[in-house]
Amino acid sequence: MGRRDAVQVIVEVVNKMRLLDPRLIVTYEPGWEKRGNGTTANYEGGIWHHTASSSSPTRPFPTQTLLRVGRSDLPGPLCNFAGPWCSVDRPTIHVMAAHPANHAGASGGRSMGPLPKTSLFNPRVLGLEIDYAGLTAMSPGQLHVAQLWARAVADVVGGGDINRVRGHMETSVTGKWDPGFANGKTYDLNALRASSARLTPGADMPLSQQDANLIADTIVNRGIGQMPDKSSMEIWEALRDAPIYARQAALAAEATQAAVAQVQKALQDAPKASAPVAVDAAAVAASLAQNPQFLASMAKAVNDDAAARMAS
Ligand SMILES: [Zn+2]
Repeated sequence: MGRRDAVQVIVEVVNKMRLLDPRLIVTYEPGWEKRGNGTTANYEGGIWHHTASSSSPTRPFPTQTLLRVGRSDLPGPLCNFAGPWCSVDRPTIHVMAAHPANHAGASGGRSMGPLPKTSLFNPRVLGLEIDYAGLTAMSPGQLHVAQLWARAVADVVGGGDINRVRGHMETSVTGKWDPGFANGKTYDLNALRASSARLTPGADMPLSQQDANLIADTIVNRGIGQMPDKSSMEIWEALRDAPIYARQAALAAEATQAAVAQVQKALQDAPKASAPVAVDAAAVAASLAQNPQFLASMAKAVNDDAAARMAS
């Protein structure tokens, strides 16, 4: 804890969330690195909020502009992170501002945990504005993102103490009740903290970010692959995601092999034909050409062959 570079804090929170769920989609409001209310960050916790705007799959992020520019009575940014509507399969978080945002007001509400009672709370806490009405529940994906975020914030700026992430209802001195699930009703924040703390990384990152950046830069400098306009961070992300795609490809290959084995077994088990069977070779070929599993197995065979040639 203590004073740390605000941009670095955001990057670490995002990276930590990705470790917890590699499916995480991160989007960035242009200028996020410079955006803030003019005060200096001294983050030691985080606050969950709802925006009170109705969101949906077709209108996932209705409050994006407001969160950036603010209201007539309160200038933006109004959060550090925002949580658009999302599904569990596509958990999404939006980075709005690295520097302190106007979201938390003064603190000293009914349940501060270890967080300070202060009239200048915003420099001390990161804010996640989850974009949903509060009169209804978050989407399951948004709830998942709220948990990932809480665990990451606790780890990055809170010394691992999940009690340093709280709902606005707990810290507000003006009667806020967010994050809600029905009119005037706030989520069980102790339960939300407990489930956030239980999250465990889906995969370890064996390299430090510096190491990964160095590798990415080396690859680019050697001209392997054309990646114009990619920052080393993006390339690092691609490198980090590669094992996930490789795993998906391996699962697809296993499925194809299993299908082929089934066909072979069926042929072995079939009673011997008592009479010659006429085969329309052209029809069989046309049928196979329509079969995605057959095509995938052919592609795999070609790849294996190419790999063997490269290795020899
Ligand atoms: Zn709030």
